[in-house]
Amino acid sequence: MKDTKNTSGDRMARSRYAELKQMLDTRRREIQAEVQGKMRDVREEGTWGGKLNEVLDAVESSEADIQEDIEFALIQMKSETLNKINDALVRLEHGNYGYCFDCAEEIAQKRLRALPFAVRCKDCEEAREIAEQRQRQLTARRGASSLFLDM
Ligand SMILES: [Zn+2]
Repeated sequence: MKDTKNTSGDRMARSRYAELKQMLDTRRREIQAEVQGKMRDVREEGTWGGKLNEVLDAVESSEADIQEDIEFALIQMKSETLNKINDALVRLEHGNYGYCFDCAEEIAQKRLRALPFAVRCKDCEEAREIAEQRQRQLTARRGASSLFLDM
């Protein structure tokens, strides 16, 4: 295991690292298997031809291909999730995955299991949502023109 700055040899932090890594690895394997399974199905059906690698073709395809497009979109979504998981694993290696963006406290593992890409702890996320709501109300009251003047 690589040395990570934030763990500083602490046993709790190390077990947290191991658990988060396992959680992300498991999720990555699951999604990889799903994507590979879907791509295999599609190839076996032989209906897609060379479209898998050509997003634009899928977009331009006829209405009869809508079902295929949905499948394609699903695969794309899952691929994006895979990218996020890979990012999270890189951040975990660098010791900056699972920490709150606002207060720098550890995000609860329970929360990360439910939301692996959460960047804030529950408290900060709630505070942020309330702040955003207030901001929206203020903006609505002030109107768009004065908002531009403030900038
Ligand atoms: Zn926080």
